[in-house]
Amino acid sequence: MPETAKTSFRPISFKPTIYAGVLFAILLFGGTAGFIVYEGKLQKRADEVQMIYKDLLDFRSTLTLIDQQLSVTHDRPEVLQNIIRNTKLLQFRSINFQARAEKNRMHDLASWMKSNQLVLEKMIVDIEMKRVEAGNRISLMILELDDIILKTAIDVRLSSGKVYDTVQLFFFIVLAVLVVIIISAGWVIVSNYRQTVMPLNQLAEKLRMLNEELPESFHDTAEEVKKNIRPEEFSNDVNEITDSIVRFCQNIELKNKKLDELFIKDEKTNLYNYRHFKDHLIVDVARAKRYNERVSMTMIDIDRFKAYNDANGHVAGDIVLERMARIIREECREADIPARFGGEEFAILFPRTNSRKAIDIVDRLREIIAAEPFYHEKAVPGGQLTISAGIATYPDDAVDWYSLINKADKALYRAKQTGRNKVVHFREVEIEEEGESEQEKGEEKKAGE
Ligand code: GH3
Ligand code: MG
Ligand code: MG
Repeated sequence: MPETAKTSFRPISFKPTIYAGVLFAILLFGGTAGFIVYEGKLQKRADEVQMIYKDLLDFRSTLTLIDQQLSVTHDRPEVLQNIIRNTKLLQFRSINFQARAEKNRMHDLASWMKSNQLVLEKMIVDIEMKRVEAGNRISLMILELDDIILKTAIDVRLSSGKVYDTVQLFFFIVLAVLVVIIISAGWVIVSNYRQTVMPLNQLAEKLRMLNEELPESFHDTAEEVKKNIRPEEFSNDVNEITDSIVRFCQNIELKNKKLDELFIKDEKTNLYNYRHFKDHLIVDVARAKRYNERVSMTMIDIDRFKAYNDANGHVAGDIVLERMARIIREECREADIPARFGGEEFAILFPRTNSRKAIDIVDRLREIIAAEPFYHEKAVPGGQLTISAGIATYPDDAVDWYSLINKADKALYRAKQTGRNKVVHFREVEIEEEGESEQEKGEEKKAGE
């Protein structure tokens, strides 16, 4: 496995968003609970102040009643007793008032009620003694009480105002928090979309286009992907994904190259196979036709190879095949197509090459192979492994690719017939055939005479 394939894909992390969400929820619930407790306390105090205010009004009306009774009917003993009872009741109530005022931090009221208890006590004595001071004391008390009632009324208004303001503030804070959550959630979604979904979409689209536009050059896809991605625009996560895709493409390309090799190469000799040779031959003949060029090809056959195999075995024969293939490959030019035609036969295509050049190349190849020392080649008749070759050139010798192969094959046959370890061009075969037919015609003529 290539090293690149090891890197694993790391998924996008949502942990920070989840943590932030949980924190917001805790703050919201905690804040709401705190608010409910605080608002309850405020409301309770406002209710208490309201009650105190009502009781104060009641207190005042009792005081006013005592004042009226004192000025009108104080000489009747049962009325007097009633007044004293009411006054004692007020004295008792003022103790209760003092406690409630202190509890609600109404310090003015508390201290007034405290001093009042003493005044009320003196008043009881004055009433019993039927002194005039009782009336004066009660008038003064009413005046002071009016002042206290006024202040308490303000306190009532302020307390309920505070409750109202707190509720308003709470709802404002909740609204603000919600707005912040909505904006940040929107931001997270938009940036996530921009940084992941959009780039991935673009990437997928580019890959699709690359695949459509470069069907023949899939080998370049990884390079194209690398060229087309712009890391500065993408998040790290997306860059990791694109890197994975690039690595994936490189991997596939590597495998495709191997597949291509398998598709066009001969396994035993590592030369091109017949399929690839034929494809090139068709294309080169067509091009030669169009541009008025020449294409040559040769058919090569090992001489007496059966004898070599019989003497040394097929494994040794295979080694000879591989060695000859290597020599053929080394002697060919960059543009030539050396192939294994089948068995112990080879073919070489020479694009844009005339017959003279082709003969030179193949004859040099023949000499090199003849001079090459092969394992136990003495077993072959003649004592050395050699090759015979036939050459043909388009358009001089053939009208199409198919007949070009046939003509080269014919020339090879002639090379075999005339002694082996030879290179024969089809033109020689033609000339000889013409010579033979001329001779036949001459003989026929003679016989006729
Ligand atoms: P000549 O061509 O000179 O007429 O004689 P030859 O003995 O070479 O005859 P021919 O070309 O007909 O023989 C082909 C022989 O090549 C038969 C077979 O044993 C051998 N051969 C073909 N393919 C292979 C191969 O893949 N490996 C080995 N070791 N031998 C092969
Ligand atoms: Mg053969
Ligand atoms: Mg042979």
